[in-house]
Amino acid sequence: MNTRPEILFPLFAGITTLPGVGPRVAKALAEIKITRPRDLLLTLPQNGIQRNLRASVLDVTPPAVATVEVEVRAHHKNPARGRPYRVSVSDAKTSFQLVFFHPRVDWLQRTLPVGQRRVVSGKVEIFDGVAQMVHPDYILAPSESASIPEFEPVYPLATGLAQKTVRRAAMAAVERAPELSEWIEPGLKAANNWPDWHAAVERAHHPTKMADLSPASPDRARLAYDEMLAHQISLALARKNHLKVRGKQSVGTQNIQSNILKKLPYKLTGAQEHAISDIAKDMAAQTRMNRLLQGDVGSGKTVVALLAMLIAVEAGGQAVMMAPTEILARQHFDSLAPLLRECGVSLEIVTGRDKGKLRQKKLQALAKGEIQILLGTHAVIQNDVVFHDLRLAIIDEQHRFGVRQRMDLGQKGQGVDVLVMTATPIPRSLALANYGDMDISVLDEKPPGRRPVQTSVLPAGRLGEVIAHLKTAIAAGRQAYWVCPLVSESETREWTAAKERYDSLCQALGADRVGLVHGQMPASDKDAAMARFVAGETSVLVATTVIEVGVDVPQASIMVIEQAEHFGLAQLHQLRGRVGRGATDSSCVLVYSPPLSRTAQKRLAAMRESDDGFALAELDLTLRGAGDILGVQQSGVPKFRIADLETQAHLMKMAQDDARLLTRTDPELSSPRGQAARVLLYLMEQDKGIRLITVG
Ligand code: ADP
Ligand code: MG
Repeated sequence: MNTRPEILFPLFAGITTLPGVGPRVAKALAEIKITRPRDLLLTLPQNGIQRNLRASVLDVTPPAVATVEVEVRAHHKNPARGRPYRVSVSDAKTSFQLVFFHPRVDWLQRTLPVGQRRVVSGKVEIFDGVAQMVHPDYILAPSESASIPEFEPVYPLATGLAQKTVRRAAMAAVERAPELSEWIEPGLKAANNWPDWHAAVERAHHPTKMADLSPASPDRARLAYDEMLAHQISLALARKNHLKVRGKQSVGTQNIQSNILKKLPYKLTGAQEHAISDIAKDMAAQTRMNRLLQGDVGSGKTVVALLAMLIAVEAGGQAVMMAPTEILARQHFDSLAPLLRECGVSLEIVTGRDKGKLRQKKLQALAKGEIQILLGTHAVIQNDVVFHDLRLAIIDEQHRFGVRQRMDLGQKGQGVDVLVMTATPIPRSLALANYGDMDISVLDEKPPGRRPVQTSVLPAGRLGEVIAHLKTAIAAGRQAYWVCPLVSESETREWTAAKERYDSLCQALGADRVGLVHGQMPASDKDAAMARFVAGETSVLVATTVIEVGVDVPQASIMVIEQAEHFGLAQLHQLRGRVGRGATDSSCVLVYSPPLSRTAQKRLAAMRESDDGFALAELDLTLRGAGDILGVQQSGVPKFRIADLETQAHLMKMAQDDARLLTRTDPELSSPRGQAARVLLYLMEQDKGIRLITVG
């Protein structure tokens, strides 16, 4: 039920209740997602125009806005066809012309009577060597000129909207803004010199100088913080809700784990050990684990997942790990099966491919607890997949799944511990925005002995050279991935491109040396192609982006990416992460089709210069903006109207701490500050958070 506080009603009324907003304007505003006064209130001016009175248009450097007092000298009526109507005026130092296209002449003559003084404000330009002002924004008698703002806010506009209209409506929305009780922790507010909400709103809409438009201004910082805080309170409430369900206490015996560790050909990195101990602690606790394991490509998340699953098994229960692609699920299965079987752990794989009797058999064994570890694709969340005693659910490459799918997996048992893993290096601010309800472990250390991948950038015109190099390299026993262009609008075209490239590489390198995988292939063909590549039977694997996530073939050491300019930085980094895993030197060739846009140039240059996923992610954020960075599938990305995750990243951490503290000390949000925070949740339309407080 909607129990929006009454104090907010005026802000949530129809937009047409604002002056000057009729159905036409309302429609245009709706295009920029403004449908209520509240939306307009949270849409701040993006720019400002200086309109302070000057002696002369000579005092500004055209083209620029000037406000001057003039004397009207003459009207030049009856202009030649197609020429505008001109009025000569003079200010304190010079004379210039006011220019009007298709004016109502009688109105002009009334407004600008010859011999009278007027204050005009508008953009001054030089045309044919003469200063002119086309359609001044203001023409007023000197006695009324005080109504021209010295600094005029400029709002973001949809087509068909005039600044004046939006400004007037925004001012009216500000008038309606009520005084609200404070939801920000007083110490924090004082330390940052933040004003009250009402004052912040009022001043943010009445900037008096450029600096007021900066995200660093106290008014804007406060309003951004409010948005982040509302979001973080929702996450904190969700987190409490997740933790409320009693978890199972899974304590490992170390029996199987120590056995496995002995069999591994390497020692765990410090970061891996740290992550595993975080996880073990969470799993042993009464509360449910809700943890994100973040680690750059190749940082070794799989073995952490394996050890976590063994804790569940050692404690007498089951674990499941879900991967986004069949290739990846199968790869996990193939790499883990021999190890686990030797240790007497039973595991199975379920994907969309399993049908009929065989699937039935697997599911029965699972329900009886005979299968201890289940791997698979999203097929593992189907309704008929029932566990005997599921204790841990792991989601690999979680950014490839929707929020819903993640939740469904966690609900496969009572109080299941949840671990999600991601290789997408996310800037801290985004991680906080997105996963603020989780605890985070980071693998910030790569396994030893990795050598940086040599990255080069080449135009498509030099593809011949690339192929020639490849020929030499594979003759020397090296293996390569060849990634075909990303065709966003059509999967069919994506695989046609891959097939064509496959054919031409077969010709150049020999058909028996080249394999092909793409998303449309029957799963068994995919497996076969992967298996031949893993076994070294083929040297080059032509692929669409199906290999982007997770694929691990340590001996492959060359990565060619065609039309690299169409990929995002994060994706390029993921793809490149497929190589550089073995002992040989690796290389990555980014092939592009000129001309390159400025951002594409920057992206490719960054790839050449940096091997650090986090640094690249930060850069990606500045190049693309937060909305894009996680891709369309990242349905959980919050859309902020004021807060900017780039420039105000530091506020997000503060908001998270503040939100967790508030929900810990006042879980019902019943204290005065808690009550104020409720109003904030309604104001910011944090429906999820509201549901959580209303259900209690
Ligand atoms: P990702 O984090 O991208 O999922 P993987 O788990 O696939 O990475 O691991 C990448 C490679 O690194 C694998 O071949 C794995 O065997 C290897 N590996 C993992 N941990 C270590 C380690 N501590 N020392 C050496 N190699 C490791
Ligand atoms: Mg992985």
